[in-house]
Amino acid sequence: MRTSPNIIITGTPGVGKTSHCELLAQNTGLKHMPINQIAQDRDCVDGKDEELGSLLVDEDKLLDAIEDEVKQGGYIIDWHACDLFPKSWIDLVVVIRCDSTILYDRLEARKYSAKKLEENMDAEIMQVLLEEARDAYDEEIVVELQSDKIEDVEGNVDRIEQWIENWKEDNKEDREEE
Ligand code: ADP
Repeated sequence: MRTSPNIIITGTPGVGKTSHCELLAQNTGLKHMPINQIAQDRDCVDGKDEELGSLLVDEDKLLDAIEDEVKQGGYIIDWHACDLFPKSWIDLVVVIRCDSTILYDRLEARKYSAKKLEENMDAEIMQVLLEEARDAYDEEIVVELQSDKIEDVEGNVDRIEQWIENWKEDNKEDREEE
C-alpha cells in the first residue's frame, strides 16, 4: 500500500503542467515524472508525428518502464494524456485549464506550427483532457484547476498540497484499522 499518493497533472500543452509539477515537487518532495522526457530516456518512443512535431510513445513499453517506481507511490506524472495509466496506480488527477486567448499567446510564443496550434486550441476549447480524465477515472478523484495568471500556480499548488495532507491522514487511518 502506498504511503504517498500518485498524482497525474494533465492538460493541453501550454496550460502550465510543468510549472505546477515543479513547484509541487519542490514543496512536497514528491517526484516529478515528465513523461515526454522519460519516454525518450527509456527508449519508449516509436517515432515522431512529422506534421505535428510530437513524439509517438509506445504506451505499453512506457508503462512497463515506470511501473515499479510508480507503484511505490509519491510520483507526479506530467503528461498531456492520462487514460493510459491504470486506475489502481492513481490517487488524484488534476486537469489544468487555461483561458483560450491566453493559451493562444503561450503556444504562439513556443513557435508551434499553425496546425499544431489549431489542434491544441481546439483540444482546450472542447475540454478534451477533462473528458478523457472523467471517462478514465472515478469522478471524485478528478479536479479541474484554472491557470491563467501566475498567482494561479501557487494557489493551485497550495490546494493540491492540502489534498495530499488529507490523503496521507486518511490512508494512515485506513492502515491503522487493518
Ligand atoms: P505545459 O507543461 O502544460 O506545456 P508550462 O508549464 O510549460 O506548460 O507553461 C507554458 C508557458 O506558460 C511557460 O512559459 C510558463 O511559464 C507559462 N505559464 C504557465 N502557467 C502560467 C500561469 N498560470 N500564468 C502565467 N504563465 C504561465
